[in-house]
Amino acid sequence: MNLDLQTAFVRMNEACAKIGRPIQVMEVCGTHTVSIFRGGIRTLLPKTLKLLSGPGCPVCVTDQSYIDVVLKLVQRPDILIATYGDMIRVPGSAGSLETLGLRNVEVVISSDDAVQLARKNPKKIVVFLAVGFETTTPATAVAVAEAERLELDNFCVLCGHKVVVPAMNALLGGMNHRIDAFLCPGHVTVIIGSDAYRPVVERFGVPCVVAGFEPLQILSGLAEICQQLADKRPQVSSVYHAVVTPKGNLTAQKLISQYFEPYDGLWRGLGRIPMGSLRLRTEYSQYDAMARFGIEEVPGKELPGCRCGEVLCGLIDPPDCALFAKVCNPDTPVGPCMVSSEGACSAWYKYGHSRSTHA
Ligand code: SF4
Repeated sequence: MNLDLQTAFVRMNEACAKIGRPIQVMEVCGTHTVSIFRGGIRTLLPKTLKLLSGPGCPVCVTDQSYIDVVLKLVQRPDILIATYGDMIRVPGSAGSLETLGLRNVEVVISSDDAVQLARKNPKKIVVFLAVGFETTTPATAVAVAEAERLELDNFCVLCGHKVVVPAMNALLGGMNHRIDAFLCPGHVTVIIGSDAYRPVVERFGVPCVVAGFEPLQILSGLAEICQQLADKRPQVSSVYHAVVTPKGNLTAQKLISQYFEPYDGLWRGLGRIPMGSLRLRTEYSQYDAMARFGIEEVPGKELPGCRCGEVLCGLIDPPDCALFAKVCNPDTPVGPCMVSSEGACSAWYKYGHSRSTHA
């Protein structure tokens, strides 16, 4: 249940006083990150409660190797890249789609647009850049199903889809800093269901609380987290009952598992995460750009000076990067976290936070 503003603050402050030590809560959703900044929430929290922005922005977590593959493909005259807008400006080792290949690039607003592009351009192979978490994966599955139905042989998917829970496990298991709780992503949880976080709570003993995106919903989620920590009673809970259920959207889950299988793929900043990425099942390999063009996934080189990997892991705040707001800004982004409107660097820049709160 969402609390009223006063109750949320009272509950948070009382709980933080009872906890009696600094705590760090990570949001793993780019929309939460932006809403937290836009609502000025960070400035209102108890001094002992620090928010970390985690790997919740789809473009940002896409590994450098993926971007470099895209930049190679776009050079081919027989290929047309279909992509959501953010990917256009993400820098690779030698430029971005914007600077290198706009002739062969079409921005789409849905996966179906990419399929229609293939229908209209039979002499080109349309490669759809499929990035995002469980929220966008079902739409990619539908696109593959539609291409199959239409018997399109000039449509394929460069699959960069990610799975959220394995990343949370990797963060808790591998990082040398403490995450006391997760504020869990509302949209993703609509698909996967809040029960998906139970193994995280059972293994690591951290609260996982799902919240919506309005400031009051976020504050209610944070109050619930603080209460659980104060009571030493970590559990999965949701303050986003309007759309989140324990089991999630079973139809969407079925679509995902019909077309995709999990594997140990690369994430920016987190490396290979066990079962953290999705690829098309071999039955659909004709729609898999990696298979079609004989591409192997190898780790990419980080962009010089860019610390997006550390930002995504919550190890630093964007202003800790020496390039932040100097050479790196939304007009001339050096890394993906400054490109995407959901990126932490972009949010910090836009909402005027110039000083890190990391110790
Ligand atoms: S400020 Fe720019 S260069 Fe630094 S981590 Fe963020 S995106 Fe990368």
